[in-house]
Amino acid sequence: MPVLDEQLIPVFDEVVSRNPGEIEFHQAVREVLESLGPVVAKHPEYADAEVIRRLCEPERQIIFRVPWVDDAGRVQLNRGFRVEFNSALGPYKGGLRFHPSVYLGIVKFLGFEQIFKNSLTGMPIGGGKGGSDFDPKGRSSAEVMRFCQSFMTELFRHIGEYTDVPAGDIGVGGREIGYLFGQYKRVTNRYESGVLTGKGLTWGGSQVRTEATGYGTVFFVKEMLTASRDSFDGKQVVVSGSGNVAIYAIEKVHQLGGRVVACSDSDGYVVEESGIDLDLLKEVKELQRGRVSDYAARRGSSAKYSSKGSIWSVPCQIALPCATQNELNGADAKRLVANGCQIVAEGANMPTTPEATALLHAAGVRFAPGKAANAGGVATSALEMQQNASRDSWTFEHTEERLAKTMRSIHHRCLETADKYGSTGDYVVGANIAGFTQVADAMLALGII
Ligand code: GLU
Repeated sequence: MPVLDEQLIPVFDEVVSRNPGEIEFHQAVREVLESLGPVVAKHPEYADAEVIRRLCEPERQIIFRVPWVDDAGRVQLNRGFRVEFNSALGPYKGGLRFHPSVYLGIVKFLGFEQIFKNSLTGMPIGGGKGGSDFDPKGRSSAEVMRFCQSFMTELFRHIGEYTDVPAGDIGVGGREIGYLFGQYKRVTNRYESGVLTGKGLTWGGSQVRTEATGYGTVFFVKEMLTASRDSFDGKQVVVSGSGNVAIYAIEKVHQLGGRVVACSDSDGYVVEESGIDLDLLKEVKELQRGRVSDYAARRGSSAKYSSKGSIWSVPCQIALPCATQNELNGADAKRLVANGCQIVAEGANMPTTPEATALLHAAGVRFAPGKAANAGGVATSALEMQQNASRDSWTFEHTEERLAKTMRSIHHRCLETADKYGSTGDYVVGANIAGFTQVADAMLALGII
């Protein structure tokens, strides 16, 4: 396991003691601090201005009650969160997650990651994240709508196109953004398109936003392959998850000549040697809101479904964890290495445990961290904001080209920065340092605030 620079040990200790029990947040902070040793050595001005300590403390944390009435007429209660982490580079920007596992520690880890990810895009957006412990599973659309309306009835006073711009994440897609935007519009009496991203195409949304995170991850891997004079052609790929990120990662891998042989959900995974049938997967997941087991049942004998074991035991050259945090552990990393995996790129946020990351690194597997590899989603959100601000809308082709260009530039920045700080080829070091220094320099310029 990498060690922390001596200067940074008290910073990390302070984060742990100020945020007790928030283990995912501690993990995300530690991962960044582990890369910053050479930066603090070279730049004493960051320590003088306590930039890192300030960066680890969110600018504002909002926690609120979300009461709503279910279809049976019973009152339900959830907790809502918005952590406005850092606005040195622009308005807070980051998604909302609706999932029963959501608590302050998850929102803070996601918000912290978002600061560096957003910085890496090169666009003028700060970092934030929000969500609720609401579980959309098994809820009717009417229940989801009432929940979203109640959530926005409090959130509206904290957000705005120049203040804080939420979007989707796990459990929040186009349907939820619609209900949230509708309620925002109603309570503020403003058609403020730029207040949320991930909107529908007929009411201010951007082409490619739905596809952006998955496409972006695959574009990033394409850059990694190109750097070693390789391509997706004929590559066997495993994609965990089957939500928005996974579906569009699979689509782009197939377009680029690779073959995705497995995907999953929280109940199990399906293996299909001839390649996942994406039209059917989209139908089951996007239209019917069904499960991977439903997909497998529809495919019959060509698909093998398993509710036990790990998707990472399926042999592949490229692994794209696109489900959720800490889904790929040390044992999984060993399996991937034993099966000859060459590249792991995170489509989800922090899906690889620190132990797994260290094992992959030691085995020479090239590893792209989420803050670089999945930045395509938020980068396209920034493009949506740009279109909203100019009351314009771009074509699919133009927007996809902008996304591809952004991923190319993030890839380049990671490698260039890693090289400059003596860790050639290390995307983790490159992403953390490049993301950090841009925010840190802005914080220095803005004074002690
Ligand atoms: N939730 C996405 C992420 O993790 C997108 C955020 C956004 O578009 O603002 O980056």
